[in-house]
This record gives sequence, structure tokens and C-alpha cells, in this order.
Amino acid sequence: MKYLILSDIHSNKEALSAVLSHVRRKRCDKVVFLGDLVGYGANPNQTVDALRAQKPLAAIRGNHDKVCSGIENGELFNRIALEAAMWTRRKLTRSNLTWLKALPQGPLLVDGKFAISHGTPIDEDAYIFGEIEALNVFRQTDFPLCFFGHSHFPVIFGLSPDAITTILTVAPTFKFKLEEGVRYLINPGSIGQPRDGNPLASFAIYDSESRVVTISRIEYRVAETQEKILKAGLPRPLADRLALGR
Ligand code: ZN
Repeated sequence: MKYLILSDIHSNKEALSAVLSHVRRKRCDKVVFLGDLVGYGANPNQTVDALRAQKPLAAIRGNHDKVCSGIENGELFNRIALEAAMWTRRKLTRSNLTWLKALPQGPLLVDGKFAISHGTPIDEDAYIFGEIEALNVFRQTDFPLCFFGHSHFPVIFGLSPDAITTILTVAPTFKFKLEEGVRYLINPGSIGQPRDGNPLASFAIYDSESRVVTISRIEYRVAETQEKILKAGLPRPLADRLALGR
């Protein structure tokens, strides 16, 4: 099976459309989504519609999906994130709001092959930034392979019997074959708001037969997305950061 792994789309329609049309020829069997479909960007309904149209789909909620759909009130959000979340809540159609609210909480096991979580499999709102957090997650879980999001930073952590390793991807397309006997935590990066200093949309494809993970970066119309954010009256930093990838 070939899985298209998407995370942290954040209402960025241009980035999501660019990724979906880019992978059309690759014939993925299933779309897997790691949470944060909305929040920050100006096209919440269009991005929810686009993801809902993907079939088959395995999806979980992110922290922004919870606040934007009204499951949580966002008391831990900063001012800009909260303003965008409240704007999003007002814009979402009833149908999309209901659909977002019903997204399950991670971790979720996909086809018995791998797990997915938004933050960590233990706490959907917690971050995995580096090896210390990754090691803690490895110790408290037993998934051989887990894809996660939330940090908007593409990275692979591998735990062998004697060491933990971090693999940072720099190439626009990075292929990595999973080794036997090593456990992995993999972040495909963010579609709609990358934060690793690279503004290109980031996503992964996992081929469960060959056990190869490919993390790719592709261009999208950033200026158009920025214009929409400003036109919607959303906070300017949300537009500015897209060009910087942080
Ligand atoms: Zn996010």
C-alpha cells in the first residue's frame, strides 16, 4: 500500500491543491492526515472540502481543529492563533464544522501497519522537537512506526537497540528506507505553514511494501495565499511567515 501522509494544512488551499495535483500520478492508495486542517489561513471551507473528498482517508484532529470547531476555547493559544481560530469558527459551514468536530483523537492505528498522532501518541497537544522528547515517546509507547505532526518540522527519529538518531531532510525529495529492528517517529512536515526555514509545502509518501518513506517539498503560489490572508483581515504575521517558512 502507498500512503500519502499530510499534516498541518492550516486552511492553505493553494499549498494543498499543489500537493494533491503533484501526487496524482503517484497513485497513492490512501490519504492519511495528522491534524490541523484549519486555523491560520483564509480558506477553511475549501481545505475541509478538499480533504473530505479524499477516499479512502484516515484522519485525526489537531489542536487547531479542536479550537476552530469549538471543542476547546483556545485558552492556551497566543493572540494571533486565537484570532484566526475565532475567525475560522465563524466562517466554517455547519457541515464542515460538524465534520471537524467528529475527527478522532490520535493515536490511530492505520491498517494495522503504523500509528498516527498529532502531537505525540501520549498527548495530542505535546510537541516532539528533538531527541529527548522522541526518546520519551519511544519509551512510553511500543509502536514500531508512528507519523506525527504539530511541530511543522520534517524530521525522522530512529531508535535502534543502542542509540537514537535524527535525520533532517534538506533535499527537495528525500527517500529513506526503514531498517528492520529500528523504531521510527516521522514528521512529514507541514503543508500549509512550514517552520523549518523552507517555505515549500512538505509532505510524505510511505510505501508499506518496500518500507520506503519519501519526504518531498514543492512550490505553491505563496503570494496568492498571503493576499487572501490580508484581504480576509487575518493578522499580517500569518501572511509574512509563509514566505520565510517559519
Ligand atoms: Zn499545526
